[in-house]
Amino acid sequence: MKHLVEALRRNRSLDDDGLRTLLESDDTALADALHSSAREVTDEVFGRQVWLRALIEWSNVCRNDCLYCGIRRSNHALVRYTLSRDEILACCDAAWNQGIRTFVLQGGENPLAAAELLVGIVGAIRVCWPHAAITLSLGELPAETYARLRQAGADRYLLRHEAADPQLYTRLHPAGMDWQNRIDCLHTLRRLGFQTGMGMMVGAPFQTTRHLIQDIRLIETFRPEMIGLGPFVPQHDTPLGSYPAGRAETTLRLYSILRLMLPHALIPSTTALSSLLHGNRLAGIRAGANVIMPDFTPARERAAYALYDGKNAAWMETTGNLSRLRQELAEAGYSINPSRGDYAESVFLLS
Ligand code: SAH
Repeated sequence: MKHLVEALRRNRSLDDDGLRTLLESDDTALADALHSSAREVTDEVFGRQVWLRALIEWSNVCRNDCLYCGIRRSNHALVRYTLSRDEILACCDAAWNQGIRTFVLQGGENPLAAAELLVGIVGAIRVCWPHAAITLSLGELPAETYARLRQAGADRYLLRHEAADPQLYTRLHPAGMDWQNRIDCLHTLRRLGFQTGMGMMVGAPFQTTRHLIQDIRLIETFRPEMIGLGPFVPQHDTPLGSYPAGRAETTLRLYSILRLMLPHALIPSTTALSSLLHGNRLAGIRAGANVIMPDFTPARERAAYALYDGKNAAWMETTGNLSRLRQELAEAGYSINPSRGDYAESVFLLS
């Protein structure tokens, strides 16, 4: 079976049957071979280094009603907040002082606030920290708003496609949300010059291995600079809150498979994964991920950014634990690269 891993590494692709075996096999030796091959490739491209991105959950106000998401419009159990410009700049300042060179502003989908508020805030961040990278994750916005955000100084945009299969997408989202529009947004973002991230939840309700293979194919074709994926974790106030969480192991295998397909991609070991992996905190890095996103949202608001249950229990995602994170990485033989960590196809930019 290990020939599947070798073929995937050599060809940077694999047929559907091979992918199915890699995703589903009970053979732990095969899974180990997959993870260590992916780690070797990661080391070849990036060295034993990880990049940190400061996550700033700037608002949980959302016009959307995604059936899995705790900040969906219909969740009335949630207190809504939007950080002020000064609060966001204070988060950036704290992150910069800890050596982090990428700020990620993520939030609910709020087109008006994005256009009126965030364009100005992105501009202010750009002026205050000309050498930082600014990443946005604000959902589907009009092309014109994306363009204004880009012009204001944003470099990267994360927009998970959520499901490559339009039917699965429809089952996970309310009427009115359109699969094609999400895909169109990804193309618009790329055209505007954003380094673009896509991805999906692993083990989402109704999702099968066939769907995951479709996701892999979409990512393989689009070739995003960043790939965001983590397990589905139920949130009790949502319509899908009683479905089981996705498997951490399947998530790890997907990190490895996608690393072998796209060796230069920036792949975060996500918060949702670490919320399931209490005792095995660097498993994502060992499987080929190379980015960690510590949470710099002020503690009070962080609790209200309740995408899924247990999110705040994830140790390595909190500001106060950065020294512990550094130490654990060092013990495992990794260091934190101090650069912005932009995507580069050939020689990775180390400074
Ligand atoms: N509004 C932005 C950001 C959404 S939150 C957007 O639409 O892109 C970021 C990601 O969290 C989502 O893309 C989704 O994949 C993930 N997410 C939401 N609810 C989740 C859940 N219950 N379990 C795991 N991941 C979840």
